[in-house]
Amino acid sequence: MTNHSEKEETKKPSLNFIEQIIEKEISEGKHDGRVHTRFPPEPNGYLHIGHAKSICLNFGLAQKYNGLCNLRFDDTNPVKEDVEYVDSIQEDIKWLGFDWGDRLYYASDYFDQLYDWAVKLIKEGKAYVDDQSAEEISAQRGTPSKPGDESPYRNRSIEENLDLFARMKAGEFEDGARVLRAKVDMASPNMQLRDPAMYRIKHAHHHRTGDDWCIYPMYDFAHGQSDYIERITNSICTLEFEVHRPLYDWYLDQIIDTEYRPVQTEFARLNITYTVMSKRKLLQLVEAGHVNGWDDPRMPTISGFRRRGYTPESIRNFADRIGVAKRDNVIDVALLEHAVREDLNKKANRVMAVLDPLKVVITNYPEDQYEELHAINNPEDESAGSRIIPFGRELYIERSDFMEDAPKKFFRLAPNREVRLKYAYFIKCNDVIKDEDGNITELHCTYDIDTKSGTGTSTRKVKGTIHWVSIDHALEADVRLYDRLFLTENPDVAEEGKDFKSNMNPDSLSVVKGYVEPYMVNAKAEDKVQFERTGYFCVDKDSTAEKLVFNRTVPLRDSWAKKMNK
Ligand code: ATP
Ligand code: MG
Repeated sequence: MTNHSEKEETKKPSLNFIEQIIEKEISEGKHDGRVHTRFPPEPNGYLHIGHAKSICLNFGLAQKYNGLCNLRFDDTNPVKEDVEYVDSIQEDIKWLGFDWGDRLYYASDYFDQLYDWAVKLIKEGKAYVDDQSAEEISAQRGTPSKPGDESPYRNRSIEENLDLFARMKAGEFEDGARVLRAKVDMASPNMQLRDPAMYRIKHAHHHRTGDDWCIYPMYDFAHGQSDYIERITNSICTLEFEVHRPLYDWYLDQIIDTEYRPVQTEFARLNITYTVMSKRKLLQLVEAGHVNGWDDPRMPTISGFRRRGYTPESIRNFADRIGVAKRDNVIDVALLEHAVREDLNKKANRVMAVLDPLKVVITNYPEDQYEELHAINNPEDESAGSRIIPFGRELYIERSDFMEDAPKKFFRLAPNREVRLKYAYFIKCNDVIKDEDGNITELHCTYDIDTKSGTGTSTRKVKGTIHWVSIDHALEADVRLYDRLFLTENPDVAEEGKDFKSNMNPDSLSVVKGYVEPYMVNAKAEDKVQFERTGYFCVDKDSTAEKLVFNRTVPLRDSWAKKMNK
């Protein structure tokens, strides 16, 4: 007999390691069973697909365990931060489908409280003002195997520290002249604990606090405290913060007098092949004009993917599928592309578009006659209905769908061969017209009225079906064909003396003039379609009533893999 509960177990999707931790905490009654996470971006750039993973994880855990997830801007470095980023980050999270409710916070909301805690540490002899330069301090840090040297200012009196810290705040000193440091342990094997900086002087305008402050807390001194203030239960961050965890806990030890305390857990950041993922590098691409802004469809930013035609569902599904790992790994970008194909296959209407046109004249079709043919919008979704396609004497087909000296196995159009025009008729090529240089300019074909799609009486069969548009009805469009931005699997690794930019693909964008069915006449930005036999495309925000502009989201088949195999 099958054990019932065992069967139930196997039906449940397995838990990732963070879910396991949370379920254990809940079962032990920790945090009174509450689950409260946060997503803490620094507003110093647009969000990328790595952030999307963190968003899906943090907001997803809150949803799964009936908890809450805050959005908190970690805005402790005014020099690099900007409201443009604050706005774009909120838009991107909403677009991904998540909601922080009324819990939008800023680390800068806590500057007063953080300052008071710093004073408390000074009063307890656990923090001191160091007059040395950053270089001097760094020279004293030691190495993981060699203890650091204590600063000559380490043992100054509490009164002097209080006075100096107050004067740092009052703006008496230049940037970098002094720092406030935690007095932890210069011999700790964990370098993070060797008297880390808590506050630095920066005479800079802050996007929210203006000129109120000229000293700013370091990330480590702000983050755990912000978690504590917001009563976060699970502070989830990426692996590089693992070595910071003892410091996270040390700072909390100094201020906490409650049973509640947030717990930091680290997971592996998302890396993707052929992609750079650091905001610093993405900023370089934007500033040097290698791409057209943060939302360039080649960028791995959320806004770039959105403009490229990705759906929120495809990104969420991708995040789900890759899971949550404890150790660093690299995900094949083909998986992300697969996720968007899978979603668009269900959602995108099919239309015909010709991107490399070759004119076809159907010589036995009456001049000035047109007819309306019926086409199915999406074979995967009956509710998408059908549409009308105009057919006439002059058509465009794809240049690659014709071959003059075609091998036997070529089942598309060739001299004296027949092919099916999708939703229309069989046509046969009789004449190939060329210009004086021998380039093919048009094909003269005849159609067989008995082969009309759906109603024709002919029982003849052909192997190939090609797409087409009626020249008189087609809309002209700029079609932007994107390829990968980088040529190498790990663009961060560059040749000696060069940087990641040397790995950029010079052909990551080509623009072609294409012709699409008139059905697209009212298309608006972000509308998604499948161009039959070609790929998934979406309408770009540059598109106007006069000139349609499409972005290729992904080809139907992986043209890149084909290219690489050649
Ligand atoms: P970058 O290194 O790209 O500049 P960051 O970590 O400095 O990113 P933050 O704004 O500080 O960017 O990150 C906000 C949150 O997103 C953090 O919790 C961070 O751990 C997480 N995050 C950043 N990059 C990734 C990634 N590649 N995969 C998963 N999570 C990430
Ligand atoms: Mg950061």
